[in-house]
Amino acid sequence: MYNIKIEKTTNPKPLPTEDNPLLFGTIFTDHMFEVDYTEGQGWHDPRVVPFHDLELSPASMVFHYGQEMFEGLKAYRTDDKRILLFRPDKNIERANNSNARLMIPEIPAELFLEGIKTVVKVDEAWIPTKEGTSLYVRPFVIATDPFLGVRPSHTYKFMIILSPVGAYYPEGLDPVKIWIEDQYVRAVRGGIGEAKTGGNYVASMAAQVKAHEEGYSQVLWLDGVERKYIEEVGAMNIFFKINGTVVTPMLNGSILPGVTRNTCIELCKSWGLPVEERRVSVDELEEAAKNGTLEEVWGTGTAAVISPVGHLRYEDDVFQIKDGGIGEISQKLYDTVTGIQLGRLEDKYGWTVEVK
Ligand SMILES: *Cc1c(COP(=O)(O)O)cnc(C)c1O
Repeated sequence: MYNIKIEKTTNPKPLPTEDNPLLFGTIFTDHMFEVDYTEGQGWHDPRVVPFHDLELSPASMVFHYGQEMFEGLKAYRTDDKRILLFRPDKNIERANNSNARLMIPEIPAELFLEGIKTVVKVDEAWIPTKEGTSLYVRPFVIATDPFLGVRPSHTYKFMIILSPVGAYYPEGLDPVKIWIEDQYVRAVRGGIGEAKTGGNYVASMAAQVKAHEEGYSQVLWLDGVERKYIEEVGAMNIFFKINGTVVTPMLNGSILPGVTRNTCIELCKSWGLPVEERRVSVDELEEAAKNGTLEEVWGTGTAAVISPVGHLRYEDDVFQIKDGGIGEISQKLYDTVTGIQLGRLEDKYGWTVEVK
């Protein structure tokens, strides 16, 4: 047990009303979790405090060299009023893998989980209950040494902020249009593509803006070397159903290992569907789209859970996916994952963790 101090706000904000659309990531709760790291001392002074602005030296290393890690998971309010987290152990394990790659000190798993539980409990009134809503949990670490020179920082701050959210895409479960990017790349093997860090996102922005201007909501990345194999979407992993087989790009060192990706693989296997984690080329998709075997395409990620894809654009070609509606497996995955997250379906896998 860690001794997490709790300081409550004396100035609570009004809770969002039921009819507030909760645009993703725009509203923050009354409190946040904080813990500091000092070399020689380790992580110290864990606390829940009122949500506040930070005061940092302008020389803080995070601003100049991007040494930071983030995570994303959700807390749900069940019909019988319990609070559930979904596979937080997976996020914590991935956070520490990201930390290792980014030379950020490991965060003890128990401290991480207790930090999440404590701040979620303090702000439990902020967990929305309307269909499709949840409390998004954003843990992150920043390097705080005031130093202009390249080396790992000796001091860090780990924080957790909370945001009540509705659907990630305003389209909801309506299929999205995706742009296959052939000019920019997001990550290469040996780089930081498999770490969850802001640097991967800034690398993606130019293509994201270009895709938006063309009327596409997301970019699908190709491998950085041959620009031939599918990697993942901006903030989602990607799945294809080709001629009855569920196919997703294998984790090759430049793809983010999504928790939702792993959940979907486990569920599809448990339903007896053939699942393949392997390289998938654009040519294979083009061929499958042409001969009618590209049956379903969907993205997976904590924010949207499942996001059906209606069509893919590659250079001057459009790969239409069946009738462009939501596919059978996408719908079943969405219903099953959200059913378990909300405590409405039996959690056979032990994926949910209750916050008491
Ligand atoms: C977070 C993230 C995902 C999705 O991971 P989940 O654990 O399923 O939320 C996919 N790709 C990238 C680049 C990400 O940052």
